[in-house]
Amino acid sequence: MSDVEHKETHAFQTEVTQLLHLMIHSLYSNKEIFLRELISNASDAADKLRFQAVSKPELYENDANLEVRITFDKEAKTVTITDNGIGMDKDEVISNIGTIARSGTREFLKSLTGDQAKDAHLIGQFGVGFYSSFIVAKSVTLTTRKAGAPREQGVRWQSTGDGQYTIETVDKEKRGTEIILHLGDEHDEFLDDWRLRSIIRKFSDHVPWPILMIKPDYSKQEEPKEGEQKEEKPPEWETVNKASALWTRSKSDVKDEEYNEFYKHIGHDYEEPLAHLHVRLEGKQEYTLLLYIPKRAPFDLWDRDGKHGVKLYVKRVFIMEGAKELMPRYLRFIRGVIDSSDLPLNISREILQNNPMVEAIRKGAVGKIFGLFEEMAEKEADKFKQLWKTFGLVLKEGIIEDFSNKERLAKLLRFSSTHTDTAEQEVSLGDYIGRMKPDQEKIYYVTAESFPAAKNSPHLEIFRKKGIEVLLLCDRVDEWMVNHLTEFDGKQLQSVAKGGLDLGKLEDEAEKKELEKKEGDFKDLLERVKKGLGETVKEVRLTHRLTDSPACLVGDEHDMSATMARILKEAGQAIPGTMRILELNPVHPLVTRLKNEANEERFNDLSRILYDQAMLSEGGQLDDPPGFIKKLNKLLMEMAS
Ligand code: ADP
Repeated sequence: MSDVEHKETHAFQTEVTQLLHLMIHSLYSNKEIFLRELISNASDAADKLRFQAVSKPELYENDANLEVRITFDKEAKTVTITDNGIGMDKDEVISNIGTIARSGTREFLKSLTGDQAKDAHLIGQFGVGFYSSFIVAKSVTLTTRKAGAPREQGVRWQSTGDGQYTIETVDKEKRGTEIILHLGDEHDEFLDDWRLRSIIRKFSDHVPWPILMIKPDYSKQEEPKEGEQKEEKPPEWETVNKASALWTRSKSDVKDEEYNEFYKHIGHDYEEPLAHLHVRLEGKQEYTLLLYIPKRAPFDLWDRDGKHGVKLYVKRVFIMEGAKELMPRYLRFIRGVIDSSDLPLNISREILQNNPMVEAIRKGAVGKIFGLFEEMAEKEADKFKQLWKTFGLVLKEGIIEDFSNKERLAKLLRFSSTHTDTAEQEVSLGDYIGRMKPDQEKIYYVTAESFPAAKNSPHLEIFRKKGIEVLLLCDRVDEWMVNHLTEFDGKQLQSVAKGGLDLGKLEDEAEKKELEKKEGDFKDLLERVKKGLGETVKEVRLTHRLTDSPACLVGDEHDMSATMARILKEAGQAIPGTMRILELNPVHPLVTRLKNEANEERFNDLSRILYDQAMLSEGGQLDDPPGFIKKLNKLLMEMAS
């Protein structure tokens, strides 16, 4: 068979082509990052080999000096990145390089707007990786052989990045991966020793493996004297980067820029992180944490089972990525490294589970992260605001999932409230308590499906009148959260839409008496309304929680809230129907008018309208919207005639 027959042509996954286009356009002004991305991959490949060689030293093939080499050729216009890491077999090349195996890619692409500035921002969120080669290369040749595989099983992948690639089997003596970038004419600037070295120092100084380049040989410029042969000296290589794991260095030796570059390397992010944390813990167990909070949400933040961002090392040997045992789910946005001195090197995912040492590390790491959050909340309000805006929703999951840190986390929660009446979540439970009325015993909140619905809820009327602050909860997770957060600092959290209005000592006795007196007057009305509405409502009663609205619906203390019921229903869960309680405002003209309505049909229409209105105002859905409109129009027409 000829070589041509060996060569197969494959089409890229559609997403790859789309992503490539986008990337090439949006990263143009940042094009040198291709080198960082390729060095990152080479470094990961060395990490993986070292880990596997712990139990299979023969994978080293007598060459255990893991390193990355960068060369360039001015005539051929190529830059080459070579590593002697783990390498790939043919299937891996196809699935790693021809497809984007990351979950959520399709959704990510859908979220793109077509506006280049905005999309450039998004692409940073995605992390660009290998494909960034095509920002500078008009074609890329990747040749690789998996460690331990016979030399005939090398694989060559080639593409011009325009929708397809070829793949063939080749002979490759050395294991690992070589990537040749055939630069486009306008990218000559990278065919320069000084330029490449400065990019490496800028972006990849902290890569723990040596990155080698050939020492420039200035003697070459000298012409050989007559009669002398020009001597071909073997190239002399030198290490360009620091080549030590950043987290093993002492804090005082590491500059902020170095921390930031390291973050970009492991977080595949462009932007600097919001904050970092670097500590070495010594005690029963020794381990080092270098953890980061990103500035922006990663694109797969909502994939709760997606990749976590913390890498586990044991004695500087990379063990695995995204170990879920090391970080609770609600901290899945944290990026960084945990390096343990005590775990065994041959640790597997199975051993990680239910391992007391791992649990202790996780506990320690979570504690330190909370420390960082708390310090930020106290000293860097703007940063904390940004953290909350980006990750607050995820952090709220912690109230539900992490009992042991619930109190600490509760202090960090931020809400909207009637104090500011803005959608920004900036009020802490501590702030709220600080503003409580002298006799106020509870922390009041309302839940709704949107901020306007919460803000305009009729349940707030009396609270607004009396100047009592109410937290406005309108994130979906809030419903679950308040089920788990029933108390804070000795104060009970109370929904304003559940149970009878209970203002405790804030109750105005005169008002209460007034209401009781009215109950006699309205007894007939309440019975008539209940009879008309039948099984639609559990009870009809008077309230003084309303000032402007004629009616509202409330639940019993232990009933499921209306918002929660709707969320579950939308999720396709069968939920037993809970009947609500209709409360009427005895001083509202519509209610007094109802009281005097003799016509039975009109009475029933009007009471049904009041019920439907109350349902609508809490964001609920009507059983019979056309019926509601018909009744309403009938009344309006009577007014008009
Ligand atoms: P990411 O690095 O974010 O996973 P990339 O597109 O950069 O995304 O790479 C995809 C995959 O291809 C990597 O996860 C790795 O499995 C494989 N890969 C890339 N470069 C190399 C390399 N130099 N050696 C071995 N495997 C590599």
